[in-house]
Amino acid sequence: MPSASSSRPRVVVLATGGTIAGESAHASDPSYRAGSLPIGSLLEAIPQLSELAEVHGEQIASIGSQDMHDALWLRIAARVNTLITMDDIDGIVITHGTDTMEETAYFLNLVVASDKPVVLTGAMRPATGLSADGPLNLYHAVAVATHAEARDRGVLIVMNDVIHAARDVMKTHTLSVQTFESVNRGPMGAIHHGDIRFFRRPGHLHTHRSTFAGALPDPMPRVDVLFAHANMRGDLVDAAIKLGAEGIVIAGVGNGNMMTAARDALALAAEQGAIVVRSTRTEGGAVLRNVEIDDDALGFVASVGLSPQKARILLKLALTRTRDAAAIQTLFGSY
Ligand code: GLU
Repeated sequence: MPSASSSRPRVVVLATGGTIAGESAHASDPSYRAGSLPIGSLLEAIPQLSELAEVHGEQIASIGSQDMHDALWLRIAARVNTLITMDDIDGIVITHGTDTMEETAYFLNLVVASDKPVVLTGAMRPATGLSADGPLNLYHAVAVATHAEARDRGVLIVMNDVIHAARDVMKTHTLSVQTFESVNRGPMGAIHHGDIRFFRRPGHLHTHRSTFAGALPDPMPRVDVLFAHANMRGDLVDAAIKLGAEGIVIAGVGNGNMMTAARDALALAAEQGAIVVRSTRTEGGAVLRNVEIDDDALGFVASVGLSPQKARILLKLALTRTRDAAAIQTLFGSY
């Protein structure tokens, strides 16, 4: 923990693994092991951090973020909520693999009970790689976490000089360092050579304004995502329900549409008490109610602007409070 004597801002970096902590045998080797370097060595590699803040690193996990799971989300959220309410902590940075970074960021955006900055960052190139992007991303994340104007903007992702809102950001490229985009709403801000500019405020409820702030239900209900495609059948819907899914998010085609067989299976699931959310496999746009599909008649919920992976998270939390589709639709309009 940082000592209380320094007048510099105090930031805790919670490390979870990912490519930012990745190590390869040779700098030019495209293959590497994610999450193998400890946070201490990542921080030591950036002595300039001490000009920004008093930084304390804490290793909370060492995984590739494809292995992120509910129990670890709850552990990270509990730790963030403990640290962030301490008077002598100004902000939290979380290092994370990029594959599911947007999901962890959105989960925290719903459950962190503070307006202090919480910033996720990572890297597309391993720490030992040529032109590794992790050190500057981490430096920028700490800079944003100490910036007065970063407060009350919800959880943020800082990658490749861009500041994104947790709700709006999506990984869009498998390998490029410019992978995160806020497709519908544009970035929250930018940081270049330490110069931070914020362009907008979040358009939805978040963190201390969230009805889920501080709520860490354990276990969380099972929600599955099914991917719509030509020739889709309904039997995977039945399988998900049999396996215990209380909610299903369909990554629909276009405006959350799907083949008739899948729609009929989902309608039956909704009739039997499951909550069905229509999202979209397209990157941009929002899923609107009652366009082509009669949500009112079928008891479906439209995801509005949430991607399938984020709709799944909101639905998991919503199901801890209610099984009413209309109430859940209201939540999807607000978060
Ligand atoms: N699959 C790994 C992860 O998400 C590597 C991707 C990355 O960190 O960029 O942790």
